Amino acid sequence: MLERSISLFPEMEISDKTRFNNHLPETTDKKATELWDKCLEFIEDNVDKQVFVTWFKPIRAKKWSEEKLTILVPSQWFYEWIETHYYDLLQKTIEKIIGQGAKLQYEVVVEENKKASESKTILLPGLKYPINNIVKQEKPFNSNLNSRYAFENFVVGDCNQLAYSAAMAVSNAPGETRFNPLFIYGGTGLGKTHIIQAIGNKIIREHPNKKVLYTNSERFTIDFINAIQNNKVHEFAALYRDVDVLIVDDIQFLTGKEKTQDHFFHTFNDLYQSKKQLIFASDRSPKELTDIDARLISRFQWGLIADIHQPDFETRLAIIKRKSEDEGIDIPLNVLEFIAGNVKSSVRELEGALIGLLAKITFDKRELSIELAKEVIFGSSDFEDNSLISIDEIKKAVSSKLKITIELMESKGRKHEVAFARQMAIYLAKQFTDLSLKQIGASFGGRDHSTVLHSCQAIENYLATDRSARKIYEELVNQLKR
Ligand code: ADP
Ligand code: MG
Repeated sequence: MLERSISLFPEMEISDKTRFNNHLPETTDKKATELWDKCLEFIEDNVDKQVFVTWFKPIRAKKWSEEKLTILVPSQWFYEWIETHYYDLLQKTIEKIIGQGAKLQYEVVVEENKKASESKTILLPGLKYPINNIVKQEKPFNSNLNSRYAFENFVVGDCNQLAYSAAMAVSNAPGETRFNPLFIYGGTGLGKTHIIQAIGNKIIREHPNKKVLYTNSERFTIDFINAIQNNKVHEFAALYRDVDVLIVDDIQFLTGKEKTQDHFFHTFNDLYQSKKQLIFASDRSPKELTDIDARLISRFQWGLIADIHQPDFETRLAIIKRKSEDEGIDIPLNVLEFIAGNVKSSVRELEGALIGLLAKITFDKRELSIELAKEVIFGSSDFEDNSLISIDEIKKAVSSKLKITIELMESKGRKHEVAFARQMAIYLAKQFTDLSLKQIGASFGGRDHSTVLHSCQAIENYLATDRSARKIYEELVNQLKR
């Protein structure tokens, strides 16, 4: 059993089995596994390796029925963590990979005793917001807002002061200030989505009768195209014109989509004339938006344009301090300063560094130190940048260390020593080469990518529980790096 050296989350001191998901019952539903594997591929491309390994790999698919994918997670807090931190990503993944209308449901394993066969599962509701096609929306009105974005957890500094003040003013009196439309722009990961959603959340909290709709321009485009195809342009238009506050994120994706722009233009005019609040975010200023109708550009400039820049050191420090406090973890000032001093490009990266740090102290039981922060930020030398190592070298190294021939490793042999050597080689290949799961599987006797994932998981379980396995692994890593 894993024990924590530091208690990060007092409420999370429930059995921590994220690395022990071999306790999770094996899945029998092939379709569910297939869908979830596809989701995993997409997720892997969209999160840091550390995040992926910590929060997504341990999940098992359970069942697919009636457009609902049920996944099995190791504990209640695990479920809460991914719902709080990766809700958007999960929603996007499910929509993209499985399709609109699909839903996600969780089952949490509640262990009664150590045997998997006796563990119980409870069902949790899954994604907070139903993934509906906006056109089909029925009561109650779905704002599409994520409640995690609030002014209360937004740190204000020089970089976002103007945007923040305008956002506050707008949320206090939507449609009644000069800031209409409010157009916020800035580089990625700087808090645009956070701030415009915070406006929406504050409005629905303080003016419950107001209809707020958050969308992004890609979503708008897709819904528009669907509406055309299904002869529902009228309903589509009615939905948008019925809102009091329209928030459209990532306006830049409207570029080049003339017909959608035209429709957007009319929506804008109608709402504006009825004194409804319009809020936009974009990765560049209106002037820099190319391939967008000049009429729209000029309308974007009617109200207030506020940019968000990269945070300075003090703001970065305040953000990372604030976020670590929110996670309930006490990080020494020198470590906070080190992070703030070295992660400069965006708030999203700051968050990534913090999560990486959390994972290391939680799962690897490491001491909080500048050294550790360094490893997280610059990549521990045993992960990135080792693509010079070939899969053949890995097989050779494993073969000579464990005294199992390469031929046997590639065979179907299931003896423990053989399987262990194969899994170790696969795990190392996943870490040290740029090969895809499929390619790695292929080079081990034509195995499929789920076998590769399973092997990696198996080794991780060994590394967490078995000292001699850990030693073998470390020696192999050292040898390969030489
Ligand atoms: P953008 O939309 O500009 O790409 P996001 O709004 O998605 O960026 O922000 C990236 C992450 O950083 C989010 O998790 C967000 O909550 C967080 N974040 C950004 N700015 C701040 C801030 N000033 N205070 C607290 N969190 C922030
Ligand atoms: Mg955004």
